[in-house]
Amino acid sequence: MANYPNTPTFAAILMKPIQEIFSLLEQPRKVVITTHQKPDPDAMGSSLGLYHFLIQKGHQVTVISPTNWASWLNWMPGADRILDYELQRDKSDVILDDADWVFCLDFNIFSRTKNLASKLQQLTCTRLLIDHHQQPDTPNFDYGISNTAKSSTCEMVYDFIVESGNRERVNNEIAECLYAGVMADTGSFRFPAAGASVHRMVADLKDKGLRHTKVHENIYDNFLENRLRFIGHVLMHRMEVYYEYNTALIAISKKDLLRYQVKTGDTEGLVNYPLSIQGIKLAALVIDRDEERKWSFRSKGDFDTNNFARKYFQGGGHYNASGGRSSDSLDKTIQQFIIAMKENASLLQ
Ligand code: 5GP
Ligand code: MN
Repeated sequence: MANYPNTPTFAAILMKPIQEIFSLLEQPRKVVITTHQKPDPDAMGSSLGLYHFLIQKGHQVTVISPTNWASWLNWMPGADRILDYELQRDKSDVILDDADWVFCLDFNIFSRTKNLASKLQQLTCTRLLIDHHQQPDTPNFDYGISNTAKSSTCEMVYDFIVESGNRERVNNEIAECLYAGVMADTGSFRFPAAGASVHRMVADLKDKGLRHTKVHENIYDNFLENRLRFIGHVLMHRMEVYYEYNTALIAISKKDLLRYQVKTGDTEGLVNYPLSIQGIKLAALVIDRDEERKWSFRSKGDFDTNNFARKYFQGGGHYNASGGRSSDSLDKTIQQFIIAMKENASLLQ
């Protein structure tokens, strides 16, 4: 087994290495691939990339998303075949009950799949994990790989295909899906995790004919006017900067969401804007969704948002990018954030 430095040792005991299934890939199986709720480009790209690989190997594969997703992801090859668990629950349950393998991609704890979580917990089939978030819930997976050093789950799916001896199976559909996730999760190749292996992978995808400009345009130049107007409004009226704490907070009410007809995916990337202000170390975004107040945190440098999200907002994620939630009102959760920011004053200097 390869040495994965960020995998906790207990993971190796409780979860068999993903490499052990390589030899089993040759026999056709009934496979489900799922990911976290409101899938982002990495979640969607890794799921569809793996889908296009496994169908070539003769498996019967279904991708089930726990919830809906941004319409600007519908260009991905195979997106039209994904089942939305909230809309097609009965059909999905039948397929899940019949599955031999369920791949869980780009999340590592069942609660990230919302209404699908209890179903995943009940399944008796083989559950496999491919993920790069911190603190995996490894007892729930039979096989897997958890590597927080990896840029994206898409990079890990690429490694999975290549290490299992199937590099020649990487076709244009797979390349487009995987490139989208790597591009998004590395902030278009700017974050530290965009190391040499990422660039080697992209070079390989380019050699196979990938048109990367098409992917960038599909993801970043594919919104409606109202989304840009909404961002302008939010940056002008909804952003507070706390220079003493090198922190900026954006809070969005239900009224704002309604006024600008904000849809799933329209707020993606918004949390990154305050980080472009000189000196800002922590950016936070809270959105007043129907069922919860959803938090996003981003940091630059040595502020650990994973710890912060876990400690104060029932969340987690990566060191520099995490999310969380609160069931309190918008005003109350903002007050809690301000208290938490002050408690972390020394770490934010
Ligand atoms: P985002 O702010 O884009 O929703 O999430 C940032 C990162 O944190 C993503 O990698 C996402 O998967 C992860 N994340 C978001 N919300 C949660 C949460 O509630 N729990 C955990 N463990 N991770 C989260
Ligand atoms: Mn990811």
